Amino acid sequence: MKKSKLIASAAAAAFVGNAVHAALYKPEKKAHPVIEKDSVNVERYRKNLSQAIKIKTISHRISEETDWTEFEKFHSFLESAYPLISSKLEKTVVPPANLVYLWKGKSNELDPIALCAHQDVVPVSAGTEADWKHDAFSGDDDGEFIWGRGALDMKNHLICVMEAVESLLEEGFEPERDVYLLFGDNEEVVASADNGATAIMNYLKEKGVHLDSVLDEGGAMLPVNVKGVLNNKYLAGIGIAEKGYADIEITVCAKGGHSSQPPKHTALGRLAGVIQDLENNQFKAAFSDSMKSLFDSIGRNCTYPVRLITCNLPLLYPALLQVCKLIPPAASMVRTTTGVTMANGSPAANVLPQRASVTVNFRAMPGTTTEDLVNHIKKVVKENDIEITVLNSKEASSFSPTDSRCFNIIAKLAKAIEPNAIVAPFLVMGGTDACYYEPICENIYRYAPFKVDTSLLLCTHGTNERIPVSAMADALAFFKSYIREAGDKD
Ligand SMILES: [Zn+2]
Repeated sequence: MKKSKLIASAAAAAFVGNAVHAALYKPEKKAHPVIEKDSVNVERYRKNLSQAIKIKTISHRISEETDWTEFEKFHSFLESAYPLISSKLEKTVVPPANLVYLWKGKSNELDPIALCAHQDVVPVSAGTEADWKHDAFSGDDDGEFIWGRGALDMKNHLICVMEAVESLLEEGFEPERDVYLLFGDNEEVVASADNGATAIMNYLKEKGVHLDSVLDEGGAMLPVNVKGVLNNKYLAGIGIAEKGYADIEITVCAKGGHSSQPPKHTALGRLAGVIQDLENNQFKAAFSDSMKSLFDSIGRNCTYPVRLITCNLPLLYPALLQVCKLIPPAASMVRTTTGVTMANGSPAANVLPQRASVTVNFRAMPGTTTEDLVNHIKKVVKENDIEITVLNSKEASSFSPTDSRCFNIIAKLAKAIEPNAIVAPFLVMGGTDACYYEPICENIYRYAPFKVDTSLLLCTHGTNERIPVSAMADALAFFKSYIREAGDKD
């Protein structure tokens, strides 16, 4: 055979091979359970979520500024709204207002499961109160939405867990394992080891509890519709890790003096060089296993002609990584980010600064510690005479496994509730209480089973936070099924 013919037949064979590969590159078929969507009480959930939103459980960084009587009101409300939970579960308040409910299981041999949520909410920014279509603490239910602070972050989740447990108790269900409901009191404000979740973890640790799994906020069921590529899909992201957080101040000192006789570079001028060095020397980007798994899940769900490309993802990773680095939201998923946020110079326009400082907000990838961040600054900044102060930091979590019993249950239920869902693990950008349970648990997942579109999610912590009534039945069914399955032996 001639050389050109040989090349042509090899190319044809490769083309056919790729076409077959693309045709077979589909989501794995798994049997999923039937979810009893009819056995949920949406009406009672709506009423109770409305009531819960009315109670102003606003947390403040300085504990003394928090009105703890609102948390007491919230506890009394839960007690009266959920009579079976109140009579059958063991309740402990870990001071000041963290709630621990223990539902004893039939077996003492198995590790308990935990469902977490935080009771606290953020305040409404001063001056924006009038922008709300319904008052921020009205809990108004207009038939389509329930409005107010905490409607998505995360009284919706907390009340949903309570509702699921109450409903299972009404049905006479008894879990095999112990089930803990763990509700922290200051997630929104204290991202450090002395927050409410750590107090709960220490309380459990002292009791000798090792948790089988933790399920907290972090992921959601987001609609995705890219015409001709991903048609009417949902992305159910299960958070398996979260990034670290650090505010680091860098200070440059100088002589100061009158601004009529300035040196070539003032302290601020030298600081500009520090900022440039930091921005020009970003952390190395790389795809984690969870990111590759996310791409793979999305790739398998693309329409056929697109799968001709996505079935070769590993070959595309180097190019894809370069693209991700150019798009800030994508870049934040593949590397530790460096955000220069605040700067300080002299106190007056005609005075040379004696100290100039800049605050940099880093979001660290799992595996990068605060110490690594400080070393990075020392390495990339050319200016020798700098002071580095860590103002505030929280280490990144470790990765939880994607082959554990509970991960599989969450994935299976998400898919059962929404057959068009692409279920995938992902890295949570913000912080949650979940990571504080690491000393007593290896399987920590962040997933809220509410079908909410991105524009609504953006109202979280902002104006007009609200939850669609249409998302409620599925979420209730998810938690009931989750407790049934995860609370079982295997
Ligand atoms: Zn939250």
